[in-house]
Amino acid sequence: MKKNAKTIALIAHDGKKAELIAFVKDHIEFFKGFKLVATGTTGSHVQRTGLKVKRLLSGPVGGDAQIASLVATGKCQAVIFMRDPLGMHPHEPDIHGLLRICEVHDVPLATNPATAKLLVKGFR
Ligand code: PGA
Repeated sequence: MKKNAKTIALIAHDGKKAELIAFVKDHIEFFKGFKLVATGTTGSHVQRTGLKVKRLLSGPVGGDAQIASLVATGKCQAVIFMRDPLGMHPHEPDIHGLLRICEVHDVPLATNPATAKLLVKGFR
């Protein structure tokens, strides 16, 4: 990893964690080139792939808000957030806040594997 490597945030709702981890494994060489941060439980799954990842709080207790703060302060350059559109989430306001902050700061945000694939191709 380069010294000034960009930071990518990884988040997956419970119903999408397997999909995110499959995606990470499929693109492991790409992810090795970046600093990674993740919400708590997602981060522990990512760690099992052997990648180094900074784990923040779990989503429902503030992890999404922490990632929004990193985006807002220029410390995170892309977000891959595998959302579960069929689930109910107690932290819906934080989720919307994170999406909004990515829009405000024009930071690439992928919310499904198809878009994440495009992000990986375009983000070097
Ligand atoms: P988690 O949080 O990685 O701690 O499960 C993700 C979320 O639900 O936003």
